Amino acid sequence: MNERIIEKLKYCLKYEKKITFLVGAGLSAESGIPTFRGKDGYWVSGSKNYKAQEIGTYKMFCENPEEVWKWFLYRKSITEFAKPNTGHLMLKEIEDLLKDNFALISQNIDGLHTKAGNSKERSFFIHGDFDYVRCGYECSKELYPFPKEINLLNRNKDVITEEEQRYLKCPKCGKNLRPHVLWFDEYYDDYYYKTDKVLKAAKNTGILFIIGTSGATNLPQTVCFTVLSKGGTVVEINTEESYFSEILENKQNGIILREKSSDFLTELKEEISKFM
Ligand SMILES: [Zn+2]
Repeated sequence: MNERIIEKLKYCLKYEKKITFLVGAGLSAESGIPTFRGKDGYWVSGSKNYKAQEIGTYKMFCENPEEVWKWFLYRKSITEFAKPNTGHLMLKEIEDLLKDNFALISQNIDGLHTKAGNSKERSFFIHGDFDYVRCGYECSKELYPFPKEINLLNRNKDVITEEEQRYLKCPKCGKNLRPHVLWFDEYYDDYYYKTDKVLKAAKNTGILFIIGTSGATNLPQTVCFTVLSKGGTVVEINTEESYFSEILENKQNGIILREKSSDFLTELKEEISKFM
């Protein structure tokens, strides 16, 4: 393990600084979850072929909610049966070691951190959590558990039954429910995605590990810049170049590791357990 990382970890524990993990789709790839970007970022329905950036929008939900739900139910049918991989399990073990020094900022909506056992208190799901739905028209801001009546096993991806349609209606106003996720044409919002707490954690972070994310959205970028501006160290773990690689290349506080996330996290957990 890189000496600078070990020194910084010890510093964080001594001065009560956060050790923060910012993770994206790359972490869940080993669990078989497609990234829904690039070549996976298409939805073929009947004769139509949509890009993720087109169908994952509030605009499309208002115009064609059934099509949007077909796509999200298909995605849910994958995530529902996926298992956390070594990377997720190591993050859970690292949280158990670090306790309140630990923070997890995840762009993944697949529920795998929860399945792995990470706590709600120290996890921030900045793009939402598909274990929940909410009113598509905001008659209230309440989150409801994903309706368990909807069959996710061997789904026919082109059909939503009438019965299923009924479970996708808001219990308060009767209009369509929506997945509790941040869409491409929406902004980060403190109420749903805890952005204030995320930025507060970033300000108090001594070392930030950026794992398996390309950095395409602005809150992760702000988190990275906030940590750097407060003198924290930022480590990128990614097998490929990303937006963050360019930022970190010429920074004294930047470290870039071209490793698999599960290998790195396993090694990191071993190191942390030595001095806890
Ligand atoms: Zn409603």
